[in-house]
Amino acid sequence: MTKTKAFAAMTPGAKLAPYAFERREPRDHDVQIDILFCGVCHSDVHQARDEWGGGIFPMVPGHEIVGRVAKVGAKVAKFNPGDIAGVGCLVDSCKTCGPCKAHMEQFCESGFVGTYNGRERDTKEPTYGGYSDRIVVHEDFTLKVAPTLDPARTAPLLCAGITTYSPLKEWKVGKGQKVGVVGLGGLGHMGVKFARAFGAHVTVFTTSPGKRDDALRLGAHDVIVSTAPDAFKGHGRTFDFILDTVSAPHDYNALLGLLKNDGTMCLVGVPPEPPKIAPINLIFGRRRLAGSLIGGIKETQEMLDFCAQHEVLSDIELIPIQKINEAYDRMVKSDVKYRFVIDLKSLA
Ligand code: NAP
Ligand code: ZN
Repeated sequence: MTKTKAFAAMTPGAKLAPYAFERREPRDHDVQIDILFCGVCHSDVHQARDEWGGGIFPMVPGHEIVGRVAKVGAKVAKFNPGDIAGVGCLVDSCKTCGPCKAHMEQFCESGFVGTYNGRERDTKEPTYGGYSDRIVVHEDFTLKVAPTLDPARTAPLLCAGITTYSPLKEWKVGKGQKVGVVGLGGLGHMGVKFARAFGAHVTVFTTSPGKRDDALRLGAHDVIVSTAPDAFKGHGRTFDFILDTVSAPHDYNALLGLLKNDGTMCLVGVPPEPPKIAPINLIFGRRRLAGSLIGGIKETQEMLDFCAQHEVLSDIELIPIQKINEAYDRMVKSDVKYRFVIDLKSLA
C-alpha cells in the first residue's frame, strides 16, 4: 500500500480539507501515476455537496488527471516510467457487455467505476480521485498524453474535453452548420473550441456579459447574452445543433425554439432539479432533445490526439489545492475562466 496525500470532503457539503489514505500497490496491469495537475469540474462541486445524492464520503474528487508514470505492473505494455499519462472519469468497467465491447465503457451495463465516488468492482472499496498526489489505474483506463502538450492545460480535456468532443462528433457537427453552445464555463469553452475546429458557425449563449470578448477569442462567431431582454428575437429556427452545458436550472424551452426542423439540442449539463419541458417545443419542428455522457476510452484517446495535432487546449487558472474551496464558490457564481486546475505540487 502507498500512503497518499489528498484533499477530501469528509461529509456532504463540508469544505475540502487535507486527508490521507492508502492506494494499492500496482498489480500486473496497473500504472502508478504521480499526479501533476487535476482540473476542477463542476461535477466535483455537485458530488462533494451531494447534490445528486448517494455520494460516498470521505470523498476525494478529481477526474481530470495528468501526471507522470512512476511505476508499472509486470504485464503493462502501453506505459513506461517517465511517460506523461492521463486519467478521466472512468477507472474500470465490466469489459464484456455490448457497450464495453463497442468502446462505450461509460454506458457499461454493470455500471462503470468512477474515478472517485465509485466502488472498485472486486473489493467494493471506494475510489478516490485526482485531488491527491498519486493514483493507481489499470492501463486500459489510462490515456497517453503527447509530451508536446502542456500538461496543466491538458488536464481539463479528460472530462470537459471529451464531454463536448463526443456529442459534436456523434451529431456530425461541421462545416455549413450553425451550432449554439450554452454556458461558457469549463465544458462550454471546450465546446466552442471543438465546434470551431470542426468548421461550424458557433454562437455562445451566456448569462455573463463580461465573457463576450473571451467567447469571440475562444472561437465563437457570435455571442448572445441570454439574460438581455428579447435576447433570442430573430434567432428562432436558425440552429442545427445546440450543446447545453449549464450546471444550474434554466429555461430549456426558449432554447428549443431556436432549433431548425429536425435540429437537436444535446444536454451535457446536469442541474440537480429536473427541468420542465413543453412537448410543443419538440413537436413543432420534429426537434430532438438528447443527452451525452463523457465518452469511451478509445474516443478519449482520439480526442487527446486531435488536441495534440490541432493545438486545442483548455484556458485555465492554475491554483494551489489550498484554494479549492474558493474555486468551488467562484465556479458556482459562473466566475471561471475557464477551468480551475490544481497544481499538485501544492500538496507536498
Ligand atoms: P462550469 O465551468 O461551472 O460552467 C457552467 C456554466 O453554466 C457557467 O460558467 C455559466 O456560464 C452557466 N450557468 C451557470 N449557472 C447558470 C444559470 N443559472 N443559468 C444559465 N447559465 C448558467 O461547469 P462545467 O464544469 O462546465 O460543467 C457544466 C455541467 O456539466 C455541470 O452540471 C456538470 O456536472 C456537467 N457535466 C456533465 C458531464 C457529462 O458527461 N454529461 C461531464 C462533465 C460535467 P455563463 O457565465 O456563460 O452563463
Ligand atoms: Zn467532469
